[in-house]
Amino acid sequence: MTKWVYTFGDGQAEGNSGLKNLLGGKGANLAEMCNLGLPVPPGFTISTEVCTAFYENDRRYPLDLAAQVDAALRHVGTLTGRIFGDASNPLLVSVRSGARASMPGMMDTVLNLGLNDVTVEAMASLASNPRFAWDSYRRFITMYSNVVLDLDHHNFEDILEEFKDSKGFTLDTELSAEDWKQIVGAYKNCVQEKLGRPFPQDPHEQLWGAIGAVFGSWMNARAIKYRELHSIPESWGTAVNVQAMVFGNMGETSATGVAFTRNPSNGAKELYGEFLLNAQGEDVVAGIRTPQDITEAARIAAGSTKPSLEMSLPEAYAELVRIYGLLEKHYRDMQDLEFTVQQGKLWMLQTRNGKRTAKAALRIAVDLANEGLITREEAIQRIDPAALDQLLHPTIDPNATRVVLSTGLPASPGAATGAIVFTSEEAEQAVKEKRKVILVRVETSPEDIHGMHAAEGILTTRGGMTSHAAVVARGMGKPCVSGAGAIRIDMVSGTMTAGGRVLKRGDFITIDGSNGQVLLGEIAMLQPELSGEFGTLMGWADAFRRLRIRTNAETPLDARTAVKFGAEGIGLCRTEHMFFDGDRIIAMREMILADDEKGRRTALDKLLPMQRSDFVELFEIMRGLPVTIRLLDPPLHEFLPHEAREIQEVAEAMGTNAEKLRLRALELKESNPMLGFRGCRLAVAYPEIAEMQARAIFEAAIEAGRKSGAPVTPEIMVPLVMTKAELDLVKARIDAMAKMVGEEQGVELNYSVGTMIELPRAALKAGDIAKSAEFFSFGTNDLTQTTLGISRDDAGSFLGSYKARNILTEDPFVTLDQEGVGELVQLAAERGRRTRPDIKLGLCGEHGGDPASIAFCESVGLDYVSCSPFRVPIARLAAAQAALGKVTKAEG
Ligand code: ADP
Ligand code: MG
Ligand code: MG
Repeated sequence: MTKWVYTFGDGQAEGNSGLKNLLGGKGANLAEMCNLGLPVPPGFTISTEVCTAFYENDRRYPLDLAAQVDAALRHVGTLTGRIFGDASNPLLVSVRSGARASMPGMMDTVLNLGLNDVTVEAMASLASNPRFAWDSYRRFITMYSNVVLDLDHHNFEDILEEFKDSKGFTLDTELSAEDWKQIVGAYKNCVQEKLGRPFPQDPHEQLWGAIGAVFGSWMNARAIKYRELHSIPESWGTAVNVQAMVFGNMGETSATGVAFTRNPSNGAKELYGEFLLNAQGEDVVAGIRTPQDITEAARIAAGSTKPSLEMSLPEAYAELVRIYGLLEKHYRDMQDLEFTVQQGKLWMLQTRNGKRTAKAALRIAVDLANEGLITREEAIQRIDPAALDQLLHPTIDPNATRVVLSTGLPASPGAATGAIVFTSEEAEQAVKEKRKVILVRVETSPEDIHGMHAAEGILTTRGGMTSHAAVVARGMGKPCVSGAGAIRIDMVSGTMTAGGRVLKRGDFITIDGSNGQVLLGEIAMLQPELSGEFGTLMGWADAFRRLRIRTNAETPLDARTAVKFGAEGIGLCRTEHMFFDGDRIIAMREMILADDEKGRRTALDKLLPMQRSDFVELFEIMRGLPVTIRLLDPPLHEFLPHEAREIQEVAEAMGTNAEKLRLRALELKESNPMLGFRGCRLAVAYPEIAEMQARAIFEAAIEAGRKSGAPVTPEIMVPLVMTKAELDLVKARIDAMAKMVGEEQGVELNYSVGTMIELPRAALKAGDIAKSAEFFSFGTNDLTQTTLGISRDDAGSFLGSYKARNILTEDPFVTLDQEGVGELVQLAAERGRRTRPDIKLGLCGEHGGDPASIAFCESVGLDYVSCSPFRVPIARLAAAQAALGKVTKAEG
């Protein structure tokens, strides 16, 4: 007989936290808390295997399930001293879904199940509190009707509003038992009217209805979409937790709340959270009443006048403090807790590893390691490199003038600027048009996820620090200000009113998720730094990684940023980027359009001093770190003048006739420039270009070396090589130039010459090419284009369909196609090394900043990766994780 049901309660459980696959995250952790002896209301978990069996069997339950559920219910009844469905001493339960990974889209929890017209009276007399009993019943009818019977919330909200209006009640009026009783009557009538049948009175029918709804919700559209987005297999299934109710709505000594064992925004070691007195379930996150702070310190910091849990329920608070310390030690990570206090006694209802911002993740990992709870290796492994991105974005310049429109809660840190949009659809549309937007909503729901993804930041007028918007934004690393209650949104006119101003859709605002401010207009931002825990963790990562991290940079600003972020050299300096500025483009065009070598040399002589001074500055910034300079690579086509004015400009500089130039430009147009006259083909046809660049590099190296005292060893890289002969030809010119410059200046030059491997033929012939190349740098952007035969600039029109049909799971220009392009990289690395064992191997495509691709580079033993300056910290961490991953595997 298969065991489908696992009980927990009273200091013991049939499950534990190791059984997440079987019991779901919530069920496994409830069991674990019981095993730890914590106060958890008893209950049982129906395993995920039931869900799987249910769908494999035409939506029928396993035959012996009902008996196992009945037995478990009796067990819970014994532990609580109550009986499910009993008229005088009824057991009430909650029914809670719980997949392996927390999954929005699943059925909402139903509380107070087991109430009906008879048991409600029993509850009222047992608790000597009729108000509590009727409050619970009206909640139950609302929740059950909504999630099981599919009747929208608003039906019940309308009835409640009407009732209050008819009585002349204000927002703050407390409803009495008699009031709730009348409302319950109206609710039941509503169900009868809408569904043509009464609200179910039989507790067993209620229970199976709720269980069925949980399993049913596994296949609802929202859940399916979520699984698709997060690659969760359908076969996992969800579990159902049935648990004895405890009541936070029993009066002023009862409460319900949520807490984090550390601050999820900044990682500070403090109990952090919110609660409401005399409340139940999700009241705290629903934003109907403003929640209260848990600790006195937090209350004072927030300037709140509502008492903290610490003051109002000191015993329950002390118990919470004891338990949170214990849970954190046990799970060795920050926990997100849900709890309820019933008449002064604390009950734990959930624990899980808490979601956090990247900033908090760093601080928590470093603190836990320093506290000895985890090792430094674990601290490194716990940070998602991609999430660091949010710390590497600008923050608001403290010296900028701020016109504060309103202040809400600092729900997710970072600053963002954009045009106002009021719906997720507008946000998505704007991103397609490359416009930056802030999504402004009263509150968000799971339907807004796509809009939140698209927006730069999120602003809500309702909801607290644990509202949907706040939690989801933190997970996404998006700046968010929530609960900015003074802002009025008018969807009809497409305006928002704040700080006495009316702003329209499309007007610019800035939000500061670190202090909750909503500011008028676009505001100056500051560049980020690696300080505090970020710096510490990076230092730890450096101690574990083998791969070196270089950067792709040609401007002094980029080079300085990269060095600040820890770059250990330049892996790719694209010289052509230096030719577009100001007068340079004119000299460049002169060079291209000249009809003979003499004309080209005249133009090159103008470029030489500019190029040389660029290199001097770059070498000085890099202070002796390796710098790889790539010779001119792009199709000449890209530099051609198009407009008559541009042609005229060049003609004047050359002292020739514009018409002649126009014809020459036409001649040079190419139909497929990416596979045309570019790369080393330029140097083969016009060796004087390579000579000028080599001279500029060598002269700059000597000058920078003298100035800074740090000798420069430039690495000169020849692009788009397909045969050794091409490389030999260009290398001969470079070597000759080195000799010439060395003699002119009376010094011996140290340098190396290598090549980019970016054509499949070059990868195949790497053994041969390595006879001449002292290093290889894998140019995986071109290598991807040429291996897949896909133009990166044109891939947008069809890559979406490929992803949708699972032909490609990732964009190959973002994450290296390890199977195809990766095989070429591996093969070239092996063949290159066979010829030249000490050949230096690097990778300099976009992939150099992508964690999965970096792991691949580690696995094939490259020496370094090179990425854009802002990705350097991400690469440092990813490289450490890749190295650690390898150690773990080797140890088995
Ligand atoms: P979610 O996954 O959406 O957080 P939960 O199943 O955790 O849903 O339930 C939401 C809230 O309902 C809990 O935080 C808790 O306040 C309340 N709740 C759930 N079960 C019980 C119970 N047995 N007794 C009292 N409150 C409960
Ligand atoms: Mg919820
Ligand atoms: Mg919960």
